[in-house]
Amino acid sequence: NEDPSFWKENNIQVIIRIRPLNSGEISQQGNNICVRQDSCQSVTWIGHPESRFTFDLVADEQVTQEKLFKVAGVPMVDNCMAGYNSCIFAYGQTGSGKTHTMLGDIENGTRRHNTNCGMTPRVFEYLFHRIQKEKEIRNGEKLQFTCKCSFLEIYNEQIFDLLDPASTNLQIREDLKKGVHVENLTEVTVSSARDSMQQLIQGAANRKVAATNMNRASSRSHSIFTCIIESKWEIQGIIHRRFARLNLVDLAGSERQKSSGAEGERLKEATNINKSLSTLGLVIMNLVSNKKSVHVPYRDSKLTFLLQDSLGGNSKTLMIANISPSYCCALETLSTLKFAQRAKYI
Ligand code: ADP
Ligand code: MG
Repeated sequence: NEDPSFWKENNIQVIIRIRPLNSGEISQQGNNICVRQDSCQSVTWIGHPESRFTFDLVADEQVTQEKLFKVAGVPMVDNCMAGYNSCIFAYGQTGSGKTHTMLGDIENGTRRHNTNCGMTPRVFEYLFHRIQKEKEIRNGEKLQFTCKCSFLEIYNEQIFDLLDPASTNLQIREDLKKGVHVENLTEVTVSSARDSMQQLIQGAANRKVAATNMNRASSRSHSIFTCIIESKWEIQGIIHRRFARLNLVDLAGSERQKSSGAEGERLKEATNINKSLSTLGLVIMNLVSNKKSVHVPYRDSKLTFLLQDSLGGNSKTLMIANISPSYCCALETLSTLKFAQRAKYI
């Protein structure tokens, strides 16, 4: 399954990532675990009844950030370089490893020095490497690339610009020229992995401040970092253009949101998270099933509405469902496995 042809059959891939037990779990449950990996594609939930699940890849703690990127991230960047949109989602309960997967350690430089940096910094490095190579190979074509990035948070069905923390409640618009987009969202032109890292780090810092000041816990919001890649070249006097987006999405925690007992803001939050994750599940299920007659409910949540142009068609979608192996998390882990399975098979 390290073969890049991994992607050839299907535009939707689902990976389960099992993180190591942490000290809290070991002190509560010892080494009692709720899942057993059977092969690199299958995992069994050890409960009643025992249930076996099969995916494109099951990655245990031995699978490093680097390896996960090679298997799953590289094809997404390649797809964008070919002019198609892509989405990478990290799904799972709070504490299961979503942010570790998408960002990892972003404080200590990018991958050459830092084996712990996650998917997003590696995307930057590889993207600019590909751009450089492409320019060398096609030097007769006046090839030009423009890369921009944006970083936003969806909290309680409201959109916040993480690159401009003063902005509030941005609106989604749709027109012929730009397609579905967020009005007034900051797009920063970046010309290196380092530039992109700077935006990522700044946005992540703004997200932390908003969490503290505005009470927007990141576990209850989705974040989307988007790289927009435009290229322009000339062959025999004819100008060609290509345009693609790569969306890197760290989803809100999938744990069952307690709506009973919650009131006011908390109740609204819980309802919105459940709604957007279940809509995402439905949208992906509909894409997999390929039944053109089925109504795809993109507009039922901001998350899916916004990503509408990057889901389906020639787009590639990668769902990384993160789970804890601990017995303490057995029910949430089962629910994540079920969600991920629905995204894959009907
Ligand atoms: P989430 O974003 O889903 O709430 P985090 O990514 O913050 O979860 O992970 C929770 C903790 O577990 C962090 O301390 C993180 O470093 C650690 N962790 C998660 N996944 C792994 C992994 N695959 N290997 C090592 N540590 C991990
Ligand atoms: Mg997180």
